Amino acid sequence: MRLDKVIENNLHTTRKAMKRLFLMKRVWVDGKIEQNPQRNVDSQLHKVLVDGKRLTTQHVYYLLNKPKGVVTAKQDRQIETVVDLIAVKDRRTDLYPVGRLDRDTHGLLLLTDNGQLGYDLLQPGSKVEKTYRAEVNESVGADDIRAFSEGIIFHGGVRCQSAQLTVLTAETSSSTVELTIHEGKFHQVKKMFLARGMKVTDLQRKTMGPLHLPEDLAPGEYRPLMFEELTALK
Ligand code: URA
Repeated sequence: MRLDKVIENNLHTTRKAMKRLFLMKRVWVDGKIEQNPQRNVDSQLHKVLVDGKRLTTQHVYYLLNKPKGVVTAKQDRQIETVVDLIAVKDRRTDLYPVGRLDRDTHGLLLLTDNGQLGYDLLQPGSKVEKTYRAEVNESVGADDIRAFSEGIIFHGGVRCQSAQLTVLTAETSSSTVELTIHEGKFHQVKKMFLARGMKVTDLQRKTMGPLHLPEDLAPGEYRPLMFEELTALK
């Protein structure tokens, strides 16, 4: 990682303050003053100090319980974003959401500044399993379970891969279901139910690969991934 990025990530410096740090010879790498902000460093290999404080180049990984009403984006002029929910001290410059939940969808969302990991997880071939809990406005039955398993075809003709649908409760005009999919098409869950003539009235993501939404994480709260979660993900 570039030295100026490491400093920005750790100290949240402005460009002006960054320039001053180098000019005033307050940046040290491996016991020597460093004046090249573009130099590449790795905290496993190099000891980076600013005013004697050791900096780290480790990536960050946060598991967020996304609330409804917040957009899955890095920034937006009007609407609060998922990155805005991360405290400034934890907010790395390159922090971004891995994948996308609609504004009215809530639940598990991973944020990281590790571009490669996010890219790998989102590859169509990666087939990361995602489970959603959905409320729909009809009674979901055995025919629907079969149709989801055989592969739903959207109104536009696009065919989805087989998906596992479990009915938790079903009444005449509403059902609660759990759906596991292995791909990530735009508005996928809503469009799948639409293809069956149903409307999703509430959607929550419960899992993504080995990650599970913790019961004790309130909407809007986040926590760093635990070591076991991170190793299971990589
Ligand atoms: N499918 C949807 O329709 N919306 C989401 O936010 C996620 C999956």
